[in-house]
Amino acid sequence: MKYDYLIVGAGLFGAVFAYEMTKSGKKCLVIEKRNHIAGNAYTELNENINVHKYGAHIFHTNDKKIWDYINQFADFNRYTNSPVANYNGELYNLPFNMNTFYQMWGVKTPSEAKLMIEKQKNEANIDNPKNLEEQAISLVGKDIYEKLVKGYTEKQWGRKCSELPSFIIKRLPVRFTFDNNYFNDLYQGIPIGGYTKIIEKMLDGVEVKLNVDFFDDKEKWLNIADKVVFTGMIDQYYDYCYGELEYRGLNFEFETLNIDNFQGNAVINYTDAETPYTRIIEHKHFENAISSKTIITKEYPITWSKGEEAYYPMNDEKNSQLYDKYVELSKKEDKVIFGGRLGMYKYLDMWQVISESLKLVNSLK
Ligand SMILES: Cc1cc2nc3c(=O)[nH]c(=O)nc-3n(C[C@H](O)[C@H](O)[C@H](O)COP(=O)(O)OP(=O)(O)OC[C@H]3O[C@@H](n4cnc5c(N)ncnc54)[C@H](O)[C@@H]3O)c2cc1C
Repeated sequence: MKYDYLIVGAGLFGAVFAYEMTKSGKKCLVIEKRNHIAGNAYTELNENINVHKYGAHIFHTNDKKIWDYINQFADFNRYTNSPVANYNGELYNLPFNMNTFYQMWGVKTPSEAKLMIEKQKNEANIDNPKNLEEQAISLVGKDIYEKLVKGYTEKQWGRKCSELPSFIIKRLPVRFTFDNNYFNDLYQGIPIGGYTKIIEKMLDGVEVKLNVDFFDDKEKWLNIADKVVFTGMIDQYYDYCYGELEYRGLNFEFETLNIDNFQGNAVINYTDAETPYTRIIEHKHFENAISSKTIITKEYPITWSKGEEAYYPMNDEKNSQLYDKYVELSKKEDKVIFGGRLGMYKYLDMWQVISESLKLVNSLK
């Protein structure tokens, strides 16, 4: 045995694990099938702008321990996520707050806004929402649903809201203050210098092999270390023996524009059904980057098929049951531990990934 731990995947989960274990004297090897570290949080400097290559990544958490932890590796700016929705050319602030209600109905006070929402909820008269459409209307009324929820959600999931389960949106937060801050968390920001630098620091002094796919020589990799931390897809690890877990895919279309400001905000959501992308990201606004150019990304949700980059797990009943079967198999392992968003088949924000990885480290010490 050459290594104490083989870590499959140089994303945030694997990097935190490798950092902590190396610090406690363990010998770690990280293999990564992509040609770069940092997983989906990867950023690349281009035109003096840190470009989020796998979609916009905003760090936010309520957990002071995690905030202090990540701040060891970078200073964060004071970016506040305040997305704007574009519905057929009409602009609305998000999340739903007094600015949105003023833009939607011209109401100026919280009591006027509450009255309007109550009126629309009562008109809908839905007691037992049977699907996402009914759930959303029963929570925020028809106008907000039709202009700001319906088109976006249908593009995101590739299905009609009337065919999507209601549990996807347990609640739709509405705020009766003039506050466009999307997250309620105490801490949020963008790391100065980008996310890749954070992962570089975590992996400093750790042996990392890029362009190496675990499945190209599973036997060899399984035997190279005492234990394996696997952050790839759990169903692939078991050769899809019970079937494939499903994901929603994404296509990113990048453009460099010869202007210094394209849309005046980092994130604009396109909430109509006709525009094929869900949002446009203008990366320089995450960090007030100084550049005579700007770089934008259009995000197109797509049907996912095996072999493509997997983005959002489809945690419906069918897939959850399938995942549970793989978990049962994994309980019999004494050498391989599954972690991260693909190993756990769960959408996890970055702070949750760090927290899960630290939990694993502590359980092994
Ligand atoms: C579009 C989008 C936007 C997001 N925005 C935010 C946000 O604003 N804020 C936030 O907190 N979180 C956000 N997230 C979530 C964030 O990306 C994740 O929390 C985090 O990147 C997960 O880290 P991970 O290490 O679990 O997985 P990953 O980052 O996916 O890393 C896993 C790594 O394992 C490698 N790998 C897989 N299989 C193999 C194999 N067989 N052999 C070798 N290597 C392998 C992969 O190539 C990958 O690099 C977003 C996610 C997406 C998809």
